[in-house]
Amino acid sequence: MTNSYSQVIAIDGPSGSGKSTMAKKLASQLNLLFIDTGAMFRALGYFADKAGVEFKEGPELKNFLNSLEIQYSDNAEELIIINGENLSKVIREHHVSTHASVISQIPSVRSFLLDFQRKLGAENICVMEGRDIGTVVFPDAFCKIFITASPEVRAKRRLDQLKENNPDSNETLEQVLEDVVERDRKDTQREVAPLKVADGATVVDTSEMKASEVLNHLIEIAREKAKGHNIDL
Ligand code: C5P
Repeated sequence: MTNSYSQVIAIDGPSGSGKSTMAKKLASQLNLLFIDTGAMFRALGYFADKAGVEFKEGPELKNFLNSLEIQYSDNAEELIIINGENLSKVIREHHVSTHASVISQIPSVRSFLLDFQRKLGAENICVMEGRDIGTVVFPDAFCKIFITASPEVRAKRRLDQLKENNPDSNETLEQVLEDVVERDRKDTQREVAPLKVADGATVVDTSEMKASEVLNHLIEIAREKAKGHNIDL
């Protein structure tokens, strides 16, 4: 008998909502593979920019995509490797966010990563995190969660994260807020796979919640959904 659902916990939401951190913790608590799809868009954006490939549909981009061999693991040190180059660290730099956001609007890039993500998700019970996991990649996921927070709270969290990764970073809160709003606009208004709440998703607003409260809430949601699907978590 085949399942009529995918064994994926799909977590979507805007940047800085705490979704990556929480999805990672959830996966670790439940002993599941963690799949960070943002890291894939970041890596592709970085790699394409470095190769001087224009961010638009055409033969150049097609050849570029065909030349890629991507390796993903949930070990932070080797999270993402493209054609043998370990990009796990560089993808966290601020300017890479912009490349990711632009390249993620190109349909052939999304379709390329969609295949990769579906393959990974089909091979493992996992927590997959991104913008369109519950809507496009795994609309049949047994558990879908949409994590959000106000733009101000998200900008503050993003800035703290940037400073932690690079204490010399001179970004200001205003710049990061502007960036968060602009990325939201691009993510929610793009034609292909825009960011939105998936059918059947549980929305969790983390603006006023402590990290530990969010994690407990997510575990509760995932276990409840798992019970209804006879999945042992
Ligand atoms: O989640 P993160 O901030 O690392 O994602 C980087 C960018 O990649 C986002 O701004 C978004 O434009 C894009 N993205 C996407 N679909 C996903 C994950 C990320 O379009 N599933």
